[in-house]
Formats: sequence, structure tokens, C-alpha cells
Amino acid sequence: MSIVYIVSAPSGSGKSTLVNELFKMVQGLDFSISYTTRPPRGSEKNGKEYFFISQAEFETMIAEDEFLEHACVFGNYYGTARRFLRESQQRGHDLLLDIDVQGAAQVKKNLPAAVSIFILPPDRDKLEWRLRNRGLDSEAVIRRRLDTARREIENYSKYDYILVNNLLEQSADELKAIVLAERLKRSGTVSQPKEEALLLTAQACQLDRSRDRVLPILASFGAVPTRN
Ligand code: ADP
Ligand code: 5GP
Repeated sequence: MSIVYIVSAPSGSGKSTLVNELFKMVQGLDFSISYTTRPPRGSEKNGKEYFFISQAEFETMIAEDEFLEHACVFGNYYGTARRFLRESQQRGHDLLLDIDVQGAAQVKKNLPAAVSIFILPPDRDKLEWRLRNRGLDSEAVIRRRLDTARREIENYSKYDYILVNNLLEQSADELKAIVLAERLKRSGTVSQPKEEALLLTAQACQLDRSRDRVLPILASFGAVPTRN
């Protein structure tokens, strides 16, 4: 049975960077290319980062029940096509969804076995610095992203794993460990010390072990801690 991994993060936390690193290290994992009504940014190409479609086309896809989930994010529609999951399963691959907190909740409801990972920046100042340093957004957009980040972060306790993206290399290794540990758990065979080490790294990122690391981050955003 294929595994569906959900990755969410406030914009600027380093999710795309980490997911790119993950795909260099892990085989048999497909990336779900979402459909969106937002225009392409920078060097983005249709069919690579996203399928860029009109609002009318998006609404037709909703009416024809083609989406596993869809949501409105920053004023644009985004959706995960059911066909990606089907095709990935046919290949015997796992599938990674890079989606927002609303989409993650819908997927978890439909596919409770999905593995969800929430990526956090080390604190609000570092997130602001990363957004500015990335150089993609205007001042107004950066303000809106920081404001939205606070609300998104309050959803952290709905996720299975929490990854604080402080040092890139370490975070990439943790993300890889989570993906491989979930495969190992489902295959039921852990025999080598290397595999034990992966399980331990992944375990340290589990929600119930992450609260002490998360609380100061929440506080830096003025966000309210929640419990499931
Ligand atoms: P997201 O996909 O979450 O919006 P990006 O992957 O575009 O975020 O990362 C935002 C910026 O932060 C980029 O300029 C990226 O190079 C940088 N970045 C990512 N991870 C780290 C890290 N661990 N330390 C410092 N900078 C980082
Ligand atoms: P961006 O426009 O910066 O690429 O993405 C904005 C947000 O939309 C990110 O949080 C990203 O994870 C989310 N997103 C991308 N694709 C989907 C999708 O198919 N469904 C949902 N719900 N969110 C998505």
C-alpha cells in the first residue's frame, strides 16, 4: 500500500527547499503537482511546479469531483487531483502533497493513514528574514504572509510530525528519516543499526515529543497553543 505524505508550512519556512532536498535523497516517491488559479511566478513552468489553469477550469474540475482536496489560499484556488494518487499507486510509489493546513485537514479526513508533517521556522524574526532574503515578495505580501503564518502555526497539533527548520542539512536529514521510518514501520522489518537510527531521528520529531520546541516558536508569533 502506498504512503501519502502531507507537508505544510507557513510560507518562507523553507518547505520547497527541504522537499527538493528530499527528492534528491529518496527513491520511489512522487510529487503531487497541484492545480492552481494563481499566475506562474519567476521561472515556474506549467506542469512542473503547478498546472496553471483559469478559475472556470478549476470550477469545472470541482464540479466533476476531480479533486482529493482543494482550498483558497492567499486569494487563489489550489487543488490536489485524485488522478495523481491513482497513478502513483499504480506505479507502486509513495506520494508527497505540498499543501496548506486546510487541504491537509481534508486529506487526513479522507485518508487517515496519511502521514502529516508540519515545518516551522525557528522563530518569527528568522521567518521574516527568510521572506525578505528570498526577494520574491513585496512589503505588503510579506506582511500578509507573516500574519497568515501566525494562524497557520496554531494548527501544528493536527500534524503527526513537527520539523523545525533551523539548520538546513539537519532538517533535510530529519525529513528523510520521517519518510523512510514510515516505510520501515509499514514493512515491519527493522534489522540494521542504520534503520534503528532512522527510527530514532523520526521519533524525536513526533508531535508528542515536540511541544517543548514548539511553544517558544508559537510565542514569538504571538500564537495561542492548542491541544487536539
Ligand atoms: P517555502 O517553500 O516554505 O515558502 P523556501 O524553500 O522558498 O520556503 O525558503 C525561503 C527562503 O529561506 C529561501 O531563500 C531559502 O533559500 C531559505 N532557507 C530555507 N531553509 C533555510 C534554512 N534552514 N536556513 C536558512 N535559510 C533557509
Ligand atoms: P505558493 O503559491 O506559494 O506556491 O503556495 C501557497 C500555499 O498553497 C502553500 O502553503 C502551498 O502548500 C499551498 N498549496 C499548494 N498546492 C496546494 C493544493 O493543491 N492544495 C492546497 N490546499 N494547498 C496547496
